[in-house]
Amino acid sequence: MHDDVTSATINPYRMAVQQFDIAAERLGLSEDMREILRQPKRELAVNFPVRLDNGRIKTFTGYRIQHNVNRGPAKGGIRYSPDVTLDEVRALAMWMTWKCAVVGIPFGGAKGGVICDPKQMTPAELERMTRRYATEISIVIGPHSDIPAPDVNTNSQVMAWIMDTYSMHEGFSIPAVVTGKPLSIGGSEGRNDATATGVLFVTRQGAQRLGMPLRGARVSIQGFGNAGSVAARLFHNEGCKIVAVSDTRGGIYNESGLDPAAVLRHKQERGSVVGFPGAQQVRVQDVLEVPCDILVPAATEGVITAANADRVQATIIAEAANGPTTPEADVLLFKKGRMVIPDILANAGGVTVSYFEWVQDLQSFFWGVDEITKRLEVIMTRAFESVAERADQYHCDMRLAANMLAISRVAEATQIRGIYP
Ligand code: NAD
Repeated sequence: MHDDVTSATINPYRMAVQQFDIAAERLGLSEDMREILRQPKRELAVNFPVRLDNGRIKTFTGYRIQHNVNRGPAKGGIRYSPDVTLDEVRALAMWMTWKCAVVGIPFGGAKGGVICDPKQMTPAELERMTRRYATEISIVIGPHSDIPAPDVNTNSQVMAWIMDTYSMHEGFSIPAVVTGKPLSIGGSEGRNDATATGVLFVTRQGAQRLGMPLRGARVSIQGFGNAGSVAARLFHNEGCKIVAVSDTRGGIYNESGLDPAAVLRHKQERGSVVGFPGAQQVRVQDVLEVPCDILVPAATEGVITAANADRVQATIIAEAANGPTTPEADVLLFKKGRMVIPDILANAGGVTVSYFEWVQDLQSFFWGVDEITKRLEVIMTRAFESVAERADQYHCDMRLAANMLAISRVAEATQIRGIYP
């Protein structure tokens, strides 16, 4: 196994625009429409001071970007990481627009991020930073304009702080301003597992199309956070064998299968999956290349590139992460007959249950988990079939098919609303 191009060398926005251009070309979209959809509608950058526990003041930089709102209010997560860049947030906002369109939920796309290292911050510092960032972006977010959610290194607690901050400014509680909240303040049943549940639903459809039984299938997962660790549990429950998982510190591999619950306990105690007893230590990138039937990238962008795509052994690549595969790698994987279930389809379960949460908050009437899961399955299965049929029709990979479907829906909405004034 080899060292590779890392995500640090990939510009996600360039990648997103490249993917857009390929789909726009195939759709025969007008140059005017391409220009509208290729760039974000609104970009907010904020620099704001936060008092640290030691009394010093540190200035953080954050972003909130709305790519397109023609189909409904902007929707998208907030990421905390030292690696956040403006171009990364732009790309993630654009992917959110296509994601909401591909599953047919009435949202546009947005994303936010703060350049910070949450692992080096105390809970009190994290709370002050979150509340100040929420205040800074409160000029663009709102239950009818732009609704944030968790993403890398943010969670339901962070969402609770944002909801509370926004509500304090308005003078009354506004739960619908964010999704992914704790249940006690208007969160939805099923939201924690939603992204991974959606990944499982579309993978099941994909496997069925290929005549591959899920029971006994070997699964490798990159990233063991919200999306990855839950995917490990759900695929395991479905009878799959989880052969490898990883986090930022490294990976573990066991061809006989890992017990996801035990790995999670190990990670909670030691801070990493690394060192899990009875497993072989591998490097972060290696989990992409181990012998397996299903690969679930669930970490970050640009990890499957032209440099390593040939070494990916999985038959199905189900993208829980956003943007894990570069356009060059897509071409190589398609040539090899691999089924890549693209991010905007595969991980759309998260935003779909976020949509359910928003609807429940607005009407103050809440559904049970069975209803949530049933509705999610209908939406994910329908979206998968629409994309797979289009891929067959155009003899193209599922990313191009999904992008074509999504972009045509957004273009139609843009066209029919007309250009103001
Ligand atoms: P998380 O912070 O809970 O977990 C991320 C995991 O990836 C961690 O285990 C971390 O150690 C690992 N990781 C981070 N950077 C890495 C790197 N460079 N190499 C290897 N491992 C790395 O985040 P999450 O919410 O699980 O999100 C993971 C991916 O899924 C992101 O691309 C995110 O945008 C996408 N996603 C998440 C959701 C959601 O509901 N959480 C929804 C849709 C898409």
